[in-house]
Amino acid sequence: MEKKEFKSESRRLLDLMINSIYTNKDIFLRELISNASDALDKLYYRSLTDEKVKVDKDNLLIHLAFNKDERTITITDSGCGMTKEELEENLGTIAKSGSLAFKDNMTNEEKVDIIGQFGVGFYSAFMVSDRIVVKTKSYNSKDAYVWESEGVDGYTIDKCKKDDVGTEITLYIKEDTEEYEYSKYLDEYELKRLVKKYSDYISFPIKMEVTHHHMKDEEKHEYEDIKETETLNSMIPIWKKNKNDIKDEDYDNFYMDKFNDFDKPLKVISSSVEGMCSYKSLLFIPSHAPYDFFTQNYEKGLSLYSNGVLIMDKCPDLLPDYFAFVRGVVDSEDLSLNISREVLQESNNLKLIAKNVESKIRKELETLLKDDRDNYISFFKTFGVQLKYGVYNNFGADRDKLKDLVMFYSSKKDKLITLKEYVENMKDGQEKIYYAAGSSISKIDKLPQVEQVKDKDFDILYLTEYVDEFCITAIQEYEGKKFANVENEDLGLESDEEKEEVKKVNEESKDMLDAMLEVIGDDVKEVKLSKKLKSHPVCLTTKGDISIEMQKVFDAMPNDLGVKAEMILEVNEKHPISKKLKDLYASDKESFDKYTKILYSEARMIAGLPIEDPTEISNLICEVISK
Ligand code: ADP
Repeated sequence: MEKKEFKSESRRLLDLMINSIYTNKDIFLRELISNASDALDKLYYRSLTDEKVKVDKDNLLIHLAFNKDERTITITDSGCGMTKEELEENLGTIAKSGSLAFKDNMTNEEKVDIIGQFGVGFYSAFMVSDRIVVKTKSYNSKDAYVWESEGVDGYTIDKCKKDDVGTEITLYIKEDTEEYEYSKYLDEYELKRLVKKYSDYISFPIKMEVTHHHMKDEEKHEYEDIKETETLNSMIPIWKKNKNDIKDEDYDNFYMDKFNDFDKPLKVISSSVEGMCSYKSLLFIPSHAPYDFFTQNYEKGLSLYSNGVLIMDKCPDLLPDYFAFVRGVVDSEDLSLNISREVLQESNNLKLIAKNVESKIRKELETLLKDDRDNYISFFKTFGVQLKYGVYNNFGADRDKLKDLVMFYSSKKDKLITLKEYVENMKDGQEKIYYAAGSSISKIDKLPQVEQVKDKDFDILYLTEYVDEFCITAIQEYEGKKFANVENEDLGLESDEEKEEVKKVNEESKDMLDAMLEVIGDDVKEVKLSKKLKSHPVCLTTKGDISIEMQKVFDAMPNDLGVKAEMILEVNEKHPISKKLKDLYASDKESFDKYTKILYSEARMIAGLPIEDPTEISNLICEVISK
């Protein structure tokens, strides 16, 4: 028997593939089954175009078998088979390009790139086998041939006996090693699982003899094993079925089954797109967050199929981060099956699909918000943070796509509203969209600065999530209306007259205010008397872009970014405390300092900021109240 060597570049490629490129060994079965399916397609197609070729459609199938003792898996198909020349051509050369040369200094990505361009599916079987035997008989040849190989060393081809047209591939499964338990593939359950997972939608039946444990005699509790041939795949993917034939329940069941959820999805989005790149997609918005959604372990992505064959379980490139919660499948005929992850990322068709998928999800959410608000709010309470994060991520690149999907709590309506709704209900003369941030609705509602805006009968958005202010800052303005934090020093709510008056009282008390600033130190930029507070004695306001709530977020980060809000301590000029301060400043400097410290701590407390030395403040308060 003559032993042939693989062409040199094939050897390198084979070696590389077996040992480094595909990390997921499970896919070997998918590769062999899709080759078998292709061979069946080819034969069927010939029979339609050549009347000499006759096939019985019921006979077009794939058979799977395994033998634990001999450590073999056999995949048999009744497809077109191969002639001797085809065997030589198809299985003797991996990459058919003769000019293909590997250089040692190529990066793994470059190698993967090359592999992606050529058919290497069959060779993935060497990841789990140390010997492969292929018996095949072409539909237009009388003779059958056997190809045999133990991997990189080469292969042999011989005549053999085989009655039926088609191909039978036997894999001799590797012995277990410390790193990998190859024996797991010699198991009925595992093979069934792999077929279900990767090849469920292959359009020909994949059959296997399975063992059923039957009760033989109920009274005696006797069992017997019955062997039955079972079709392992469902053959028609739900997304390829006619929409009218599918009940909501079918979609729900498919979702719960495939994505291991106990609850029905909140929304099902199915679409079929014809065009430059045709595809069908079936997407689901879960009704609750998966248990690991907010952890680093959560992997976003959609299952990607090429004509019914799974290429990737979770293709991350199909979903933007802000829609990471969406689950589902995309099936396209315009994507090559033997494509590696790295090559796929660069595929323009994939990018096109991703773009369409994104806008489809967005439109569906907009519709949900419009037509089924309760459900939208339920969705938003679960995944809204993700959308808000999407608004400010990437320097706000996606903000215009998402700004109509985000909602905030309205002080007037006492529920979540959109920015559009806020602007539509603005009062005459209201120029800005007001918001206030804090850790809870009730806490924000009691903020001294909120009072002045409410007095004007303006609505205020209450922001309670840490992403909220970043989100609003990224949106910048909505329909020409700028956002204003009520804690901002100058909200522009006062008349010129009022401003003039405030300026005057501050000038009159300049020395006292400077003295207060000195007591407090660098924490605040300024101390001033104000007329905008109604009942509260003091509050902290800010100047510039960083608010107090934002500073809290920065403070909670592991590395100190040195970001500080520019704070101003405002003392209510109309409050009796203001007169008290003036008196003490004139007569009792020591008490004046103590009062200042207490008042500043009060303002920090209201803003939810920590107090540097609580013991000192507690003592000061006791001292003052026990007088
Ligand atoms: P690809 O399927 O991407 O072309 P493979 O390495 O998986 O690459 O297979 C190489 C070729 O071998 C196939 O294109 C096909 O012509 C042939 N082949 C593989 N398996 C079969 C089969 N079961 N029946 C007929 N031909 C096959």
